[in-house]
Amino acid sequence: MKLIILAAPGAGKGTQAEMLSKHFNIPTISTGAILRKNIADGTELGEIAQQYINDGKFVPDDVMINIVSKRLNEDDCKEGFILDGFPRTIKQAEALDESDIDIDKVLTIEVDDEKIIERLSGRLECKACGSTFHKEHRKPKTEGVCDNCGGALTVREDDKPEVIKDRLDTYHTQTEPLKEFYANKGMLRTAIGQEEIAQTSAEVLKALED
Ligand code: AMP
Repeated sequence: MKLIILAAPGAGKGTQAEMLSKHFNIPTISTGAILRKNIADGTELGEIAQQYINDGKFVPDDVMINIVSKRLNEDDCKEGFILDGFPRTIKQAEALDESDIDIDKVLTIEVDDEKIIERLSGRLECKACGSTFHKEHRKPKTEGVCDNCGGALTVREDDKPEVIKDRLDTYHTQTEPLKEFYANKGMLRTAIGQEEIAQTSAEVLKALED
């Protein structure tokens, strides 16, 4: 299965990508996670990406296309992969289209903006393994500590309220048109992600059946 997950920030694409990765036994390629790792490691790419991310803007297309095409050509992607966070613009989708990588399906997870703002403003992320929790709805067993690896939980810079609105605007103007792009190719599958995680997971698996 070669799958793209296309969803607004905070719609649960990371959580569902994790679930699907186990279900199909294929890797998740999260462009946001790749960029955050580069920022943490202080690489040249990290330096370029940091300002865009902190402003709620997209990292330039050429940079992203380069990162993803290299990553998808690695051996572990041969049998399939889940792309979490790419493509996010028409230019990125066209570049993928023109590459020799054949995508099977594109999944969109629909959540309304109000719910997204509530989720992102309470989100906590493990700096070490990237697992996410929520201050109210998905509390870690021990406050401030990741259930999965014991790492420290923090609020992402781009989950601060002033950045969330910009990220949503960027999503609506630049990423949402991709739904039509893939619907026209008969590749789009839709799941509603409005409720609890388990319910969304069931919707996602159902949407991918055909
Ligand atoms: P995410 O973790 O997927 O929400 O990504 C966090 C941030 O990384 C985004 O808000 C963008 O600034 C940047 N980013 C991740 N993927 C892309 C992409 N495909 N194109 C441009 N910027 C990206």
